[in-house]
Amino acid sequence: MTDQQDLLYRVESDPAWNPVAAGTARVGLHPDETAPEVIVVSGPCPRCRHETVHAEPLVAYADALTRTGLLARLLLRRATEAGSREVEVICACSAVHPEAGEHKGCGASWVLHVEWGV
Ligand SMILES: [Zn+2]
Ligand SMILES: [Zn+2]
Repeated sequence: MTDQQDLLYRVESDPAWNPVAAGTARVGLHPDETAPEVIVVSGPCPRCRHETVHAEPLVAYADALTRTGLLARLLLRRATEAGSREVEVICACSAVHPEAGEHKGCGASWVLHVEWGV
């Protein structure tokens, strides 16, 4: 179980990985914990066990979706209230997995429940 380097790249998700990742993941809320704009999840991938980092923007979509400043402000305010998010993390480890092609990581994805401001 020590060498996961040869694990083939495969797009896959397994509900059993969610609690595994929840037990090992480190979650960072930026710029601060009460009004996060970005969630950064890091930790070992539950499939290949390599270290991976995932950044989940909470407010970036405001610019893309709206043309009015009002809606942008509403979205921003909503994103900075206490809340939670199911963050889908996709393995982006720095190891090269066979058959990965242009992709990063091993292809695994899992879901981490993140809460803030509570
Ligand atoms: Zn890997
Ligand atoms: Zn992986």
